[in-house]
Amino acid sequence: HKYVYDFSEGNKDLKDLLGGKGANLAEMTNLGLPVPPGFTITTEACKAYLATGSEPPGLADQIAAHLAALEAEMGRRLGDPDDPLLVSVRSGAKFSMPGMMETVLNVGLNDRSVIGLARQADGNDRFAWDSYRRLIQMFGKTVCEVPGEEFEHALDEAKRAKGTTDDLDLNADDLRGLVDAYKKIFNKHTGREFPQEPREQLDLAIRAVFESWNADRAVLYRRQERIPADLGTAVNVVAMVFGNLGADSGTGVAFTRDPGSGAQGIYGDYLANAQGEDVVAGIRNTVPLQELERLDKRSYDELLGIMARLEEHYRDLCDIEFTIERGKLWMLQTRVGKRTAAAAFVIAGQLVDEGLIDLDEALHRVNGAQLAQLMFPRFQLDHEFEPVAKGIGASPGAASGKVVFTSARAVELAAEGEPVILVRRETNPDDLNGMIAARGILTSRGGKTSHAAVVARGMGKTCVSGADEIDVNVPQKRFTVGGHTVREGDLVSIDGTTGKVYLGEVPVSPSEVVQYFEGSLDPEQTDDALVRAVHRIMTHADSRRRLAVRTNADTGADAARARRFGAEGIGLCRTEHMFLGDRRELVERLILARTDGERESALAALLPLQRADFVEIFEEMNGLPVTVRLIDPPLHEFLPPLEQLAVNVAVAQERGQDVAQEEALLDAVRRMHEQNPMLGLRGVRLGLVIPGLFAMQVRAIVEAAVDCARRGVVARPEIMVPLVGAVQELETVRAEAEKIIAEVVGDSGVEVLIGTMIEVPRAALTAGQIAEAAQFFSFGTNDLTQMGWGFSRDDVEGAFFWRYLELGIFGISPFESIDREGVGRLVRIAAEEGRAARPELKLGVCGEHGGDPESVHFFHEVGLDYVSCSPFRVPVARLEAGRASV
Ligand code: PEP
Ligand code: MG
Repeated sequence: HKYVYDFSEGNKDLKDLLGGKGANLAEMTNLGLPVPPGFTITTEACKAYLATGSEPPGLADQIAAHLAALEAEMGRRLGDPDDPLLVSVRSGAKFSMPGMMETVLNVGLNDRSVIGLARQADGNDRFAWDSYRRLIQMFGKTVCEVPGEEFEHALDEAKRAKGTTDDLDLNADDLRGLVDAYKKIFNKHTGREFPQEPREQLDLAIRAVFESWNADRAVLYRRQERIPADLGTAVNVVAMVFGNLGADSGTGVAFTRDPGSGAQGIYGDYLANAQGEDVVAGIRNTVPLQELERLDKRSYDELLGIMARLEEHYRDLCDIEFTIERGKLWMLQTRVGKRTAAAAFVIAGQLVDEGLIDLDEALHRVNGAQLAQLMFPRFQLDHEFEPVAKGIGASPGAASGKVVFTSARAVELAAEGEPVILVRRETNPDDLNGMIAARGILTSRGGKTSHAAVVARGMGKTCVSGADEIDVNVPQKRFTVGGHTVREGDLVSIDGTTGKVYLGEVPVSPSEVVQYFEGSLDPEQTDDALVRAVHRIMTHADSRRRLAVRTNADTGADAARARRFGAEGIGLCRTEHMFLGDRRELVERLILARTDGERESALAALLPLQRADFVEIFEEMNGLPVTVRLIDPPLHEFLPPLEQLAVNVAVAQERGQDVAQEEALLDAVRRMHEQNPMLGLRGVRLGLVIPGLFAMQVRAIVEAAVDCARRGVVARPEIMVPLVGAVQELETVRAEAEKIIAEVVGDSGVEVLIGTMIEVPRAALTAGQIAEAAQFFSFGTNDLTQMGWGFSRDDVEGAFFWRYLELGIFGISPFESIDREGVGRLVRIAAEEGRAARPELKLGVCGEHGGDPESVHFFHEVGLDYVSCSPFRVPVARLEAGRASV
């Protein structure tokens, strides 16, 4: 079994096996770019190790062989006392997990080879001892779980003794002393000496990287990002190059375009005389990459050339890590870079203009989740709000909340429902929980590529980083800025687009993208690059999609908004929403009616109200289909709660008041009380039990349509029966409805369809029969999920889904994204058997899944005609329906 690949043996398409980093190092090697030589140990080796707790047979030998080849190529042996080869051991999974797993640099250094390294570096003792102390620190922390603070503390101590705060002021002797201190720390915590044998160092480091796949923060990150838990990480063993050899050396990270806005230009951070982890950790303040032109023009030009080449090769934004060792440029990593939602749209548009991709491909470069993010509101700023600080707009959005200074406090307050802003000097992977809990993240150190920035962008969370006017004091739970002191619990607002920080809570207004969808921003006139890109991509999605997109709306206002957002009809108008408010009393009368006369008068009072509701909706949707669902929820929902009523009656009786009416109500409530209302008297069952109820609704719908027709408004009603499980239920309702329709429609020309929800599993399984009586099906995937899994949709998510997610029983709530294999299978069966029975059967979905990106792809695959979702999701569904078609 082949577990180890030389960089020259891989390529960018082998990410499953070699991880992202390994595959791309191989790709760059094959492109002839300056990559330090090395090899990759596969994710399969990692998985085998994690499954058995030991290296799979053959791995050690393969590593030995590749190491020997590397040594031959470099003309040096690992840890050779006179002229050592040093290697880095780097994690690299299929999906990037920034800072979540481990890396050990300078493997191969020991008490003897440190002297050889100094000689290699032209007698630069300082460099050699600095490298050695870094190895002990990283190795100790990563491989042997020595607490990192102890090393940091010793380093601070050494600087204090020297009267400095800058690492660079420590000389070779200081660093040699620090190595001794580090070794003592190592020994104290592990009970052994720091290992001197280079191959042992290497093997232990590789193990530690394997094991870091299951580190708590990595597990948490995967869950958050929905990365499967069983992929494992690859391990890259790479010949070391040094950015800390002096002023002519350094290290940096760069993007080929601005990952925040998508603008073209040079974006990156550079740090002279440093190793890579210094940049990513945001420990020292970097300079903008442009500065490199002044420092080392030759490397700078070469770097820009390579970046252009990579973009052209990958046909996308790339991010890179590089090191310059004494004026020689080395590429340490590249990948297709993470970007904000706005940048994704803008870059996709640019790449089309540049001829690198076509519009179909552009659709694959963006997604509905990103579009949803762009529809978030923005700060509404006027003269009242002056920013108190400006950092880097690291991840866009507008967030206000209470300041907290620790991850733990962020989690605590968020659990109480408070919006919080996590304020740190810089974040590190241990802050992940707090970052997830927070509305936004504000740091005083670190650039666009700091940990906070990278992780926040990945989560789509607002982040301002490197706001260096802010002085953060975590122990005292406060920060100061321009004479203000902000304490835990105070409100601040941060703008992740501009990087501005405000005191207090700034009001918000709709985003440009929403203004565009609303029709108040003309995409042809604006110079807003994002709006133009969104318009172009949406137009293409619309031209490509097969699925129609409707909306769930039960008021004229919602219908109008959805129509502006591109809805092509209403897929679900929930009529029970029209029975609330003032009308509840009428419903109460209906429920309590003891005689036909009482019931009929209650229905007669409801009829004109319902009719007016429908007129309003039909007018807004003029010409488009409107699916009106007959009343669904249990009737007791319209009555007061049992306990409260019982208490009221008892109290009134006590006072000797006349309670006859209250008692009748209490009686009715008792009679109608259900243990499992979701499985009780609702939907079609109500219609069959309460005479005249459905008839009144049908009459109101059709009269409204006829009324519209008389005024030239084209109403296209589709009457939908909820909760059908057997064709006989539908047939009964339909027979009654058809009589009313025939009577009311007359010669108005109005056409009315009658169909059903498919939301009870039995309906899905007998869809062939039901289709005989239905002109359309609309899948109610909320109930279908509830009844398919037997999960009460109102109870389970908060109660135990966390455990199901933790155990991986599902990766996401089945109420959020359709369970393809189970509930999805019911949809597929019903679609197929329904169509077989009635080929012209119209098929749609109106459960929450209709606006979920993943689910839209599924509904496209099973051949539905439309999805229906809430108005704000309509653009998302349009985009995803387009993406599903290309
Ligand atoms: C459904 O069950 O998916 C549905 C749309 O109906 P409701 O959510 O009103 O039960
Ligand atoms: Mg339902």
